[in-house]
Amino acid sequence: MDSVNSEFFQSLKSSQPTYSPFLVSSGGTTSRAAADKHWILDLRKNYQNISFDLDKQQVEIEAGVNMGELSSFLKKHKRSFPIGLSGKTGMGYLLTGGISPLSRGRGLAIDQIMEIKGFWGNGKEFHILRPKTKEESSFEWKALCGAAIFLGIITKVKLKTQPLRPLLSWTASLSFSQLSECVNQAESWPNSLSFQWIYGEDIFAHAIGEIKNSNDESVLINLLEKLPFSRNRIINKFSDMNSLPNLSLGKNKNNNSTHSEVLGLLGPAWQENNRQVLKILQDLMNKRPNKSCYIASQQLGGLTHLNNLETSFIHRDAVWKPWINGAWEAYDQSSRKRALDWMRECWYNLEFICPGVHLAQIHPHLEWHQKELSSAFKDWLPKLQELKAIHDPKNIMPPLR
Ligand SMILES: Cc1cc2nc3c(=O)[nH]c(=O)nc-3n(C[C@H](O)[C@H](O)[C@H](O)COP(=O)(O)OP(=O)(O)OC[C@H]3O[C@@H](n4cnc5c(N)ncnc54)[C@H](O)[C@@H]3O)c2cc1C
Repeated sequence: MDSVNSEFFQSLKSSQPTYSPFLVSSGGTTSRAAADKHWILDLRKNYQNISFDLDKQQVEIEAGVNMGELSSFLKKHKRSFPIGLSGKTGMGYLLTGGISPLSRGRGLAIDQIMEIKGFWGNGKEFHILRPKTKEESSFEWKALCGAAIFLGIITKVKLKTQPLRPLLSWTASLSFSQLSECVNQAESWPNSLSFQWIYGEDIFAHAIGEIKNSNDESVLINLLEKLPFSRNRIINKFSDMNSLPNLSLGKNKNNNSTHSEVLGLLGPAWQENNRQVLKILQDLMNKRPNKSCYIASQQLGGLTHLNNLETSFIHRDAVWKPWINGAWEAYDQSSRKRALDWMRECWYNLEFICPGVHLAQIHPHLEWHQKELSSAFKDWLPKLQELKAIHDPKNIMPPLR
């Protein structure tokens, strides 16, 4: 570890204030993975180990392994892990909850963690095992499963894996009213199927199903064939998550000349509010400051509701995770302000149906950080702040206030 940055680790060990804010980068996909005038602890190069325990069917990965690499590695053992919509995300995906298109049938990524190793912000090393019973559970375990990024640097995790099963994929372009109907249908689907959509210039949707047996396949295809679409409907079968098409806006997707922030919300099924929510979304999209801004959503429910062991992902009853992507011309401060204002307006307007926040991306550099913390952790936040005072008293990791 010292070889990564001896000066920084020396100051951790001697418990001297560093005076320089620092960031941790695992997959490096968020806006807080790198910033000017910060120390960047980039784990991608030196934390690449991955190994499989054949007896327990568990995989151990270091913090530089991304989800695409994890998925490819497990495929060789005919196993799989509920990775998210992109193989490029890394340890950040696991530590912030990890909502997979397969989560409705398998739970969140944090639900698969068996062991966590790392260093608290105060420099002390830890290795904590998943409690076997509720009684064995500790506040530290609960905090690490969903709020670890505020408390320490995670170097290694051991994860449960599941059998590799074929996936069904349905992609199509939708009209506005078709999106409403698709959301409605998806809210009564079995747990093995999930629906995600992205709304920018056009609306593109992607349903993903896990085929557990041949009977399942025809049931899922039947449901997918009932979905309305306007054009380009494709139903396909894939061997693993890495092979699935991306949920993206094609030509309008972000490029290097745009910067962005993402805010993830969490809330229940829309049900009878479906039309009202869609109308709000349409109004917000009509006001978006530029064509790189968009709103998308993924579906939870099913096993993501399970709470057999307590974690810091407290919104276990969430059914939709809409996320708002505010983008602007790089280095253009007025365009940045317009995009952030629009994001705030989206949040304000959607809050009645999405009271929670998924801290997949954190914004300690923005004025809404306090609000996103309380919406993410609610009553659990004060205890997290107490744990931070013990394990990261000098606030070396991102702030919890
Ligand atoms: C294309 C795309 C698709 C996505 N799809 C999904 C999805 O389907 N489901 C979902 O839940 N999320 C999804 N996300 C969100 C993503 O999982 C989170 O933003 C996640 O935090 C990114 O992980 P990363 O390793 O790339 O993060 P980084 O940018 O490297 O880090 C993210 C945050 O985690 C902290 N961090 C990272 N590694 C460590 C570590 N080892 N120890 C302590 N702190 C650490 C960093 O300080 C930073 O604040 C997606 C993001 C992208 C870009």
